[in-house]
Amino acid sequence: MKTLAIILPCYNEEEILPLTIRKMKTLLSGLIKARKVSPRSRICFVNDGSRDKTAEIIAAACAKNKMFCALNLSRNFGHQGAILAGMYEVCADIYVTIDADLQDNPDCINQMLEKIEEGCDIVYGVRDSRGTDTFFKRTSATLYYRLLKWLGVNIVYNHADFRMMTKRAVETLKQFPERNLFLRAIVPLLGFRSATVYYDRTARQAGETKYPLSKMMALAWNGVSNFSIVPLRMVTFLGFAICFLSLIFLCFVIYRWSVRGTIVGWASLVTIITVFSGVQLVSLGIIGEYLAKVFVEVKKRPLFIVEKKIGFDRETQDC
Ligand code: UDP
Ligand code: MG
Repeated sequence: MKTLAIILPCYNEEEILPLTIRKMKTLLSGLIKARKVSPRSRICFVNDGSRDKTAEIIAAACAKNKMFCALNLSRNFGHQGAILAGMYEVCADIYVTIDADLQDNPDCINQMLEKIEEGCDIVYGVRDSRGTDTFFKRTSATLYYRLLKWLGVNIVYNHADFRMMTKRAVETLKQFPERNLFLRAIVPLLGFRSATVYYDRTARQAGETKYPLSKMMALAWNGVSNFSIVPLRMVTFLGFAICFLSLIFLCFVIYRWSVRGTIVGWASLVTIITVFSGVQLVSLGIIGEYLAKVFVEVKKRPLFIVEKKIGFDRETQDC
């Protein structure tokens, strides 16, 4: 029987964790009883540098039950880094990553396992409805997925990071040494046979979102700039278009000069200077953004640093 590792990234989740612990314990016990996964399967909490009582709650759960284990990261590395830490540090045959706030339906894990049994290596959890998300989150997400598609980024529509992967897929993921992480667009690049499982996303049952607008925007920009060079091409295209328009404008100026004499128009001059400076700065900015990515990539800093491992035994530790 295969071992399953359920990876839960947690950042300041003290309000919801007691409920999550109960829910996950019941779920994994059920799977073990039904002989769908090995009794050596684990639930692994990755404490992503929380400042509340998350670490204590997780440690207490690990002390009570061998089913739980935990990784304490040395600081806050972000959701994507925490997920990777769990998948890379825990040894198992199958991995599933799921948010600790129970917004993604954990009962889908059962269906995901069936897909793996059928021979898939990756199973994407896809949000069927976003009824409980705010209007802003719903619309911005839809527009964003459309934009990514238009930019040629291969991404599963409405899939975030609720995903099951076999050990083979996770090992292959390790060959992508990217520092700017956007896992939902990297995983489709792995190939392998994949499937999707649909679920209704529910509202957070306790606590607040740990993804403020700034973090969400940073992740969204990673999705665009890590996988698409279209913005850079657009700068080139814009440059050509503006050169062409300038030529037409030049013809107009020469015509005015030869026919009616020059009239120096302050307004048009100021407008042109402003518009062109703006375009140049935006273009430089886009190039700078990509250069910044190269800067971050070449340094190859670690994606996560584990400060402490709790509840790991030889089987969970060594593959
Ligand atoms: N999270 C994390 N590190 C962070 C931010 C979030 O590990 O820096 C975790 C968080 O605890 C949760 C998951 O990532 O389990 C998703 O975050 P959240 O539910 O706040 O995002 P939302 O659902 O609002 O997009
Ligand atoms: Mg959430």
